[in-house]
Amino acid sequence: MVQDFFREDLSDFESYSAGRTDYKVRLNANESFSNLDFETRKEIGKVIENSIYNRYPDPEALEVCALYAKYANVKNINVMAGNGSDECIQIIAHTFLNTGDKVAMQSPDFSMYGLYTKVAGGIPIEFPLGPALELDVKGFINMANSEKVKIVFLSNPDNPTGNIIKREDIIKIIEECKCIVVIDEAYFEFYGESILDKIDFYENLIVLRTCSKIGLAAIRLGFMITNNVLMSELKKVKPPYNVNSITQSIACIILKRPEIIYNNVKNIIAERVYLWEKLSNIDGIKLYKAKANFILVEVSNALEIKEKLLKQSINVRCYTSGKLVNCLRITIGSREENNCLLKNII
Ligand SMILES: *Cc1c(COP(=O)(O)O)cnc(C)c1O
Repeated sequence: MVQDFFREDLSDFESYSAGRTDYKVRLNANESFSNLDFETRKEIGKVIENSIYNRYPDPEALEVCALYAKYANVKNINVMAGNGSDECIQIIAHTFLNTGDKVAMQSPDFSMYGLYTKVAGGIPIEFPLGPALELDVKGFINMANSEKVKIVFLSNPDNPTGNIIKREDIIKIIEECKCIVVIDEAYFEFYGESILDKIDFYENLIVLRTCSKIGLAAIRLGFMITNNVLMSELKKVKPPYNVNSITQSIACIILKRPEIIYNNVKNIIAERVYLWEKLSNIDGIKLYKAKANFILVEVSNALEIKEKLLKQSINVRCYTSGKLVNCLRITIGSREENNCLLKNII
């Protein structure tokens, strides 16, 4: 049987399903609510028209990395581009994990850390967040060291809780955990604080960034930023030509005009303030800290609300078990989308 060749440890895996994407109001995937403006899209059209299709892309995406380095205020050589930061997570797992190696993460956090750990043959060790969805930093460090984990993954702000780990705590984790520490700053733009200034200071720090939340989810582009020593090791595992030519061209256009990103982020934050204010005036909804492009809320009947919203073609993320039972994660939408949500959530 062909099944004899399958990996036993993958037998209970399920393929990732993002569900239907044809809802009118899509507040479930933490995307940006506005598309690029027409002029920029026209400019992209010209570049696509004149692209070279018979040749492989630049394997190291050098121009994109240089422009991102400028955007993030780091050195070019410290930046590697990936096919989304998902691929960066996968590259990290495959670079450092042998079968049976352990990886520490908070729970709940981004599900890809656990998935790619397991695919690489590693064992995810989950550290539950506290009652207010906060991280017990000391407990986490103790756990990581006593389990002898090889990698720590932490998103900051955390998706889906929105929880923040303070800078001094991040530094404590980097200094005291005896392993590689990956800080995933997918929501950096909406929070404003970064640990990137420390990448040359610590031998064990990797920072992840992505273009997906700031208006470019379609092009699949993420970045890994780290010191030379870790970078050389990661490069051994990076698939050649992992970022395609079209993505590279589009990213160059946008990164040459970062005001496109700044404006988009400004609009999203303004809508976050609006939605937060309106939601906080509704009885029976508890809000968690919102430092990203979504708001996590707790209600008494999340599934009921989710169904009711779906009937109006509004999609949000709903949690039905574990620590986040009865929570909804609502991505910030446009004013019109937010009003539509507000009208139907009560
Ligand atoms: C959305 C998200 C990413 C981004 O993944 P991409 O592959 O770059 O789209 C990474 N980490 C976290 C925590 C996220 O929420």
